[in-house]
Amino acid sequence: MDASHVANSSDSSILSLFRAHGELSRTDVIEKSGLSRSTINQRLTELAESGLIVPTVGGESTGGRPSSRFRFNAERASILSVDIGATAFIIAVCDLDGTPRQSTRTLIEVWSGPDEVLAAVEKAISTLNLDGEIWAISVGVPGPVEFAARRVVKPPIMTGWDGFDIVAWFGERFDAPVLVENDANARAMAEARTRGVDNLVSLKLGTGIGAGLVFNGSIIRGDKGAAGDIGHTRALISQLDGHVCRCGNVDCVESYAGGWAVQRDLELAGITVKSLQDVVALVRRGDMHTVQIVRGAGRVIGDAIADLVSILNPGTIVLTGQMADCGEVLMSGIRERVYQHTVPLATTDLRIINSELGDLGGVTGLAMLAADGLFNPTNPISV
Ligand SMILES: [Zn+2]
Repeated sequence: MDASHVANSSDSSILSLFRAHGELSRTDVIEKSGLSRSTINQRLTELAESGLIVPTVGGESTGGRPSSRFRFNAERASILSVDIGATAFIIAVCDLDGTPRQSTRTLIEVWSGPDEVLAAVEKAISTLNLDGEIWAISVGVPGPVEFAARRVVKPPIMTGWDGFDIVAWFGERFDAPVLVENDANARAMAEARTRGVDNLVSLKLGTGIGAGLVFNGSIIRGDKGAAGDIGHTRALISQLDGHVCRCGNVDCVESYAGGWAVQRDLELAGITVKSLQDVVALVRRGDMHTVQIVRGAGRVIGDAIADLVSILNPGTIVLTGQMADCGEVLMSGIRERVYQHTVPLATTDLRIINSELGDLGGVTGLAMLAADGLFNPTNPISV
């Protein structure tokens, strides 16, 4: 069995209630769905037989009476999440609610191209226990994704990946539908769901800069999938230095405030750093030059998202990615500019905070989005 029979039947609306609310009684389901008791009884029986809902403790059938309480059975099958970043990928076997059960991390350079990176992905997958049913593969990439076509399109840092058929690559190895998603979008969804908020911007501050936008509980992708790519908007600096960005343009936000730009500026200041971890370590040690450069990067990022805050009015901005580990030093620059350049109503209850999901935020969000695709007939991810 797979999830397709759910997506194709009216069970999906009942199942979505359990996915959203957790445990529910028969009466809860009748009230929330507006359907008749007999219809609900039939649907609950079908869902219980498929293993997608299970009776909760204390709700077991007794004396011939049917169980009265059920919960979504997130362990019914797994979703394989592959979160490819610029310098590492994380692969996780996740439950249907996004919870990672096993995971593995591998260092790579995404610009070495799909053949090399995916060979490493295949090797990493072979180390995982894939005994259960895999209902979907969900792949996150650090570049713009044309969502409907499930392809990366002219990704600035993913040399060799332009138009590469990621779906076909996984399709040859797994009998499951494949989702391809921008990594910042996946993280944004994980942050919004785990925090229980509907209007959130998640910034991925790693080697580059990306943003995922979740509003009214859904990802804002725009017409093609390019929404939220703030790293390659023009930096709002009075004296631009004409920095060439990795995308080929000049003076992008990323060319001043991305992790790679911070590393470049440190080198120019005579401070040798091999990785973003080194940058974070210097900030934590209170190195004056590094603190100054990172705070400046925060201001550039703050300026870049201030208009976004005014236009979309998120309730929460979450910082993720390695640069977010710079903590208050980076955050203070961002806060300063966001509060300076937005209308007071847009920042009245705005929270700018660090992610608590860590490295696994990406795989969690990828699995959540794949589950949405599996269980929501209006958002199918299968070909
Ligand atoms: Zn750029």
